[in-house]
Amino acid sequence: MRIGVDIGGTKIEAAALDAGGRIVARRRTATPAGDYAGTIAAVRGLVGELEAALGETGTVGVGMPGAVSPATGLIKNANSTCLNGKPFDRDLAEALDRPLRFANDANCFALSEAVDGAAQGAAVVFGVILGTGVGGGIVVERRLLTGRNAIAGEWGHSPLPWPGDSERPGPACYCGRRGCLESFLSGPGLAADHRLVTGIPLDAAAIARQAAAGDPDAVASLTRYEDRLARGLAMVINLLDPDVIVLGGGLGQIERLYANVPRHWGAYIFSDTVATLLAPPRHGDSSGVRGAAWLWPPGEAS
Ligand SMILES: [Zn+2]
Repeated sequence: MRIGVDIGGTKIEAAALDAGGRIVARRRTATPAGDYAGTIAAVRGLVGELEAALGETGTVGVGMPGAVSPATGLIKNANSTCLNGKPFDRDLAEALDRPLRFANDANCFALSEAVDGAAQGAAVVFGVILGTGVGGGIVVERRLLTGRNAIAGEWGHSPLPWPGDSERPGPACYCGRRGCLESFLSGPGLAADHRLVTGIPLDAAAIARQAAAGDPDAVASLTRYEDRLARGLAMVINLLDPDVIVLGGGLGQIERLYANVPRHWGAYIFSDTVATLLAPPRHGDSSGVRGAAWLWPPGEAS
């Protein structure tokens, strides 16, 4: 049995998967905000409940925003900030009395979709989160690439490629630079662009709804978004050349992206034809727990 734990800013969710990848039980609880010891106790409680209910123990994988820094062994970049600078992986492993595996949420999404989701059977998969932020994860032959600095696939804080004059230097990003892909392709980035051009404050979901209803301003904003996403993904394809790209996060639910982005990206990709598949996710909100569970691949968990 595999157990996946997804630690979010508001809730912690745990699910148990059988050998075939079916979720056989799940539990959730509110994240004890700002409480490090409480967070460890909450995860231990959820895992204990699953194992008591199912009458067996499992491997445990943990997905969370942020990463274990290879340099220090401490958590970095987590939005549950009480975890930052702490040896959370070691403390949690001790609390659960077993070895654990950790990955960030974008990596869990990519792994979930690569193992038995929209990219099942593909050799190289790039999983993208387009939400409040922009992240990415790379899976090769059903194995996550973590990278020397634990940032493999993190394309969101690279600059928007092939920028036009109106896109330079681009919006200021919290990372300290300007013109990051995240500042164009996140939900807040789309909303800011729409407001800049039209003067109308709308969030990303409302822009998508209005575009679907035929509003010309919203259609224009999404068309700019699609060309920017095509440029960002063209950079990934030129470097990594994945078989399948899966779009997760709230903006990954915008249906028109899947037809329109590939219409734009040919202009930027260094290839005569582009066979790359751009796919919507299969597992939706469950990708966090599913991907975390699959951090223990077949052969390493029963
Ligand atoms: Zn940035």
